[in-house]
Amino acid sequence: MEENYLLVDLDKILNNIKSIKKKAQKSKFCAVLKADAYGLGSLEVANYIKNYIDYIAVAQFKEAKYLRENGIKTPILILGYLPLDKYKECAKLGIDVVIYDLDYAKKINESLDSKINCHIGLDTGHTRIGFRDFEIEKINKLKDLVNLNFIGAMSHFATADEKDLTYTKEQYKKFTYIINQIKEDFDLKLVHIANSAASMEYDFKSDLLRVGISLYGIYPSDYIKEVSKIKLEQAFEFKAQISFVKKVKKGTSISYGRTFVAEKDMKVATVAIGYADGFKRSFSNIGEVLVNGKPTKVVGRVCMDQMMIDVSGIDCKIGDYITLYPDIYKEAKKINTIAYELMTSISKRVPRIYKSNILGEYHEG
Ligand SMILES: *Cc1c(COP(=O)(O)O)cnc(C)c1O
Repeated sequence: MEENYLLVDLDKILNNIKSIKKKAQKSKFCAVLKADAYGLGSLEVANYIKNYIDYIAVAQFKEAKYLRENGIKTPILILGYLPLDKYKECAKLGIDVVIYDLDYAKKINESLDSKINCHIGLDTGHTRIGFRDFEIEKINKLKDLVNLNFIGAMSHFATADEKDLTYTKEQYKKFTYIINQIKEDFDLKLVHIANSAASMEYDFKSDLLRVGISLYGIYPSDYIKEVSKIKLEQAFEFKAQISFVKKVKKGTSISYGRTFVAEKDMKVATVAIGYADGFKRSFSNIGEVLVNGKPTKVVGRVCMDQMMIDVSGIDCKIGDYITLYPDIYKEAKKINTIAYELMTSISKRVPRIYKSNILGEYHEG
C-alpha cells in the first residue's frame, strides 16, 4: 500500500497509439516521452509500447541516455538544445539531435569523432528554436559539416490545437517552402511537423507523428477534445489516502493562514498528499476531488504533505483512497494552466504503479 500513487494503465496508452495510427497510416509514429513520459514513467512506457512505435522523442540528453542504457533500442530524437559536451556521447549511443544554429553546429561538428544523425530544426512561427525562412543560405552551409549526417528536418506548430487554423496553415506553408529550397542538398528521409493536435485532426504531411499528450489519453486542448473523432482513454489515475476524519464546529478555521472558516458544522477529512507531491498549493480552497465517487472540495490551504477536504455527508474512513484531478481539464483551468503542467508536476515522491493485461499490476523498479 502507498499513501498516494499514480496508477498508469499501459494498455490504454497502447490503445491510444493504435487509435491515432489508424488515422495516419502512412506516417511513422514517434512517441514523445520527454519529462519522464509527461510524468508517467518513460522507461516503463517505452518498454511496453516499443514494438508499436518507430521513434521516441525526449527533451534532454539524460532522458535519452536513461532509455538507451536501460535497453531501449528504438531510434531516439532529442528535440532541442544539448550542452556542447554531450553530442559525442549522443553519437556513441546512436541518438538523433536537432541542429538549429550554424555556429553551434560547427562547434558540434568539431567536438565529434564519429557521425551523428541530425534533424534540421526549422522555426516556422513557434519562435522557439530553428532556422527561419530567410536563412536558407545558412542551412545550406550545414552540408560542409562532415560529422553531421542530416536525415531529417522538423518544425513545431504553435496553435494546431486551436479552432482557427490560419496560423497553422501559414506555418505549414513556410515549412514546405524551406523544405523545397533545401531538399536537393540534403537527403531528408524524415520531414516532420505534426504534434498530437495535428496528428489527430489534420492532414499536413508529416513523415513522423510526434505524439505526446494524446498517448496518455489527454486531448491537447478543449477544442480538439470537442471535435475529435478519435476516442482517447485517459491512461492514469492519481490517488491519495484519507489519513484522518473528524467533525468540526461552525467557526472552526482550517489549515495555514486560516483562509477557510467553517460556515456550519461539517465533516472534514485529511488527505495524505500535498504540494511536495505535485498537488499544487494553488488548489487551496478550489480543488475538486472524488471521495468514494462523490465530488467535493479542498478546504483551506494545501500543505506540503497533507490537505483537508470537505466530506460532510460522504461516507469515508481512514485508509480510503480519494481521486485527484477527477476532471484534469477543469482543474487545470481553475489555476490558469493546462493538463500538461499538472501531469508533469506530479513529483518523484509519488510512486508510479503500472497495470497492464500482460503484466498485471506492478510497482516501478
Ligand atoms: C513536446 C513536443 C511535442 C509533443 O507535443 P504534444 O502536444 O504533447 O503532442 C512534439 N514536438 C515537439 C518539438 C515538442 O516539443
